[in-house]
This record gives sequence, structure tokens and C-alpha cells, in this order.
Amino acid sequence: MGLKPNGNYRNLKDSYLFFGISKKVAAYRAEHPDLPLYRLGIGDVSRPLCEAVIRALHAAAEDQAHAGTFHGYVPECGLPEFRSAAAGYYARRGVKLDPEEIFVSSGASDELGDILDLFDPSSPAQIAQPAYPAYVDASVMAGRKVTFLTAGPENDFLPMPDEQSDAELIYLCSPNNPTGAVYSRDQLQAWVDYANRRGAVILFDAAYEAFAEDGLPHSIFETKGAETCAIEICSLSKTAGFTGTRLGYTVIPKTLEREGMNLNAMWVRNRTTKTNGVSYILQKAGIAVFTDEGLRQIRENIKIYKQNARVLTDALDSAGIRYWGGKNAPYIWMQCPDGMKSWDFFDLLLDKIQVIGTPGEGFGACGEGFFRLSSFGDPEETKEAATRLRRLLASC
Ligand code: PLP
Repeated sequence: MGLKPNGNYRNLKDSYLFFGISKKVAAYRAEHPDLPLYRLGIGDVSRPLCEAVIRALHAAAEDQAHAGTFHGYVPECGLPEFRSAAAGYYARRGVKLDPEEIFVSSGASDELGDILDLFDPSSPAQIAQPAYPAYVDASVMAGRKVTFLTAGPENDFLPMPDEQSDAELIYLCSPNNPTGAVYSRDQLQAWVDYANRRGAVILFDAAYEAFAEDGLPHSIFETKGAETCAIEICSLSKTAGFTGTRLGYTVIPKTLEREGMNLNAMWVRNRTTKTNGVSYILQKAGIAVFTDEGLRQIRENIKIYKQNARVLTDALDSAGIRYWGGKNAPYIWMQCPDGMKSWDFFDLLLDKIQVIGTPGEGFGACGEGFFRLSSFGDPEETKEAATRLRRLLASC
């Protein structure tokens, strides 16, 4: 008897990926304290915040020092100025949003779990795997049935709708973590048409939108009809180096309704109940990201990460290794050589060349045989890691 805990937590699989990596790295370091390690495993950024953001942070902190400019609670759904600045960012790409369709958040991770409050737990979630682990775990914690769509070389890691499936809540991530694959506008249009046909809702994770180039879509709202079937979850973590600063935003169109219930209005109710907003100081920093100066400066950092990715893909090209991503995404998803399993390849890289990557198996069973390299590291370290990788792969 007594209080019953949420039994859904019993259905969670152990999250071995990052714990497993850090355990193996710690053991290796203890045995080889003098050897430098080259980290291509992290999903964290290495470049500091840009100048425009730092200036805004200082100015906003100063505002809080004076009675005339001090801010206490700010509106739960976001400072109007932040919501307008984010709407302006979309407008640059021809996407017209009402600022009230944009909700400030403390980052995409929080939103990926919290947003499930809008949907009945009996509605199953469909997740394309390999996937960012939080999609599955947040759905399982909420007691939601999860089905999987398999991404693989056969569909270039860009699975398309399965007419036979019972998808109601569909997670899509593009540019993708971990595969680096990016949906074209036509492919996203096919997803949107499918979701509208069956009354499903797409949760579109756009955490890596800033890396999309070559005319590829940054937002699901660049397609026709997304305003009646999609929610977009965005983050300034990878766009502007806010991983430790924490700021994101979520787009819920006012036209998104199911069974006569308006999801935008429901989210207003949710946020005004479950949060007291996001820090005034951080929102002012976020506004600075969306200025001409801020956007120019964050692009400089993204350019550095893209150059890192090129150094790594050059090494893979020279070894004749097949890979996906790396051009419009910060991640490179490589096939392990000689049919190796992903943890075996992890051990080989750590042991022989002191390079740390991420085993694909950690992103779902269909990630077995693949390996994720990140371009978020320091450029000099990345160059040395690429040289070592090239040498090792040549001898495989
Ligand atoms: N979505 C994806 C696909 C990610 O890779 C990450 C972070 O790595 C997040 C969301 C979470 O981002 P945030 O730092 O905004 O919580």
C-alpha cells in the first residue's frame, strides 16, 4: 500500500551510451595518464558565446541592478520582444508566424518531454531510429506506446511515411542527430501531407536547423499545410552555443487543433500553470542572436564546425569509408570498417589512436555497425584526430 510511483519508469531501458563511454574513457585514462585524448564524441559545442550575445547578457544583468530597469517575473510564454525577434528570424526565410505562435523555453530537451502533456497518453508515438534517446525515454515515462520507423542506408537515413502504421504523434529530426541526414522540402511535404491526411501531429526537432544549407529546409513550416499538423521544437544550443546558457523556443501554430481543442491555447494554459517563464537576462541574450550582428557572428562559429566536419569527411573519403551527414549537419555517421560492431570500433579507436566517438548502437538497435563523429570539437584537436583516423583506417 501507500503511494504508487510512476510504474512506466520500469519500462525504460538502461541508458548505457554516455555512461558506458565515460566509464571506458576513465579506465583508459587511468591506464595511460600521459596520452592525450581526442574527443569526437561530444554533442556539446566548444566555441564561446558570440560578442553580441555577451554584450546583451552584460546589459541585461545591469538592467537588473537598477529599480528603473529591473524586471521581476516576465511573461510565461516569452518576452514579447523575444517572440517578435524569433518570428523575424523565420520571416527572413519567408515563413510568416504570429509572435504568439512562438513560446520561449529553457531548451529543446525540456520541451521534448513537456510537450507530451498536450496529447492523450493512448496516442502512440512513432520514432524514426536511430534517434536522439530522449524521444523514446520521454514517451515511455509518459506511458505512451512507441513504434519505430527504421532509418538505414536503404533510405539514406531519411525514412518516409508508412501508410500501414498507426502513427499519431510523429517525431522527426532534421538535420538529424545522430545521422546528419537532412530531409528535402519535397520529403517534408510528403510527411506533412501524410500527417494532415490521418490527423497526426509531427513533433519536428529543429535543434540543428542552423547547419542546413544548399537550399534545404530549416523549418517544417517551409512546407504547405504544416500549420495544421506540426509543432517545431528549436534550441539556441547548437545554433548559438547556448548549451550551458539554456534557451530555446517552440512553435505551435494557432491553427493547430484536434477534436475542437486548440493546441496553441492549451500550451498557453500549460506554460502559465507549469512555469514562471524563462530568465529575462537569457531572453535578452536570445534577442541578440536574432540581430544582423548576432546572426553574422553565430555563422562564423558554424563555419568553424563545418570546417571540422570537412577535415573528418576528407579522412573518411581517403579511406573509402561510407558515411552520411557532415555537410548540412554537425554530425558524421560512418559505417564501421569491415563489418565491425560499433562498440568494438569505439574500443579500437580509443586503444589505437586515442580518438573518442559515439557507438551507433546507442541510438537504437539499427544504429549497430555505424559510428557518430562530432564536428563540435576544437579545430586543432579535430585535425589531429582526423590524421590519426586516416592512418588507422588505411591499415584496417
Ligand atoms: N534535440 C536534439 C536532436 C539534440 O541533439 C539535442 C541536444 O543534443 C537536443 C534536442 C537538446 O537541446 P537543448 O540543449 O536545447 O536541450
